[in-house]
Amino acid sequence: MKKWNEICKVDSLGRIVVPKRLRNAFDLNAGDPLEIYIDNETIVLKKYIQSCIFCGNQNDLTEKNGKYICKDCINSFVENK
Ligand SMILES: [Zn+2]
Repeated sequence: MKKWNEICKVDSLGRIVVPKRLRNAFDLNAGDPLEIYIDNETIVLKKYIQSCIFCGNQNDLTEKNGKYICKDCINSFVENK
């Protein structure tokens, strides 16, 4: 992806608008979750993709209390009992 930058202002409630060009480029739609974190002194917004809390796998996920676990990790827990 090409380098890109734009200045946007934070409003009185701390919100910013993700420019339409970026929303389109990342297929971001209203209601999509975004992960926000700090990397050194940079604030990073990242499209949130649900993954296993143990190994990061994004396939065959089972949700329990808002956390996701993949089938392989569930099977490894069962086998190690
Ligand atoms: Zn896993």
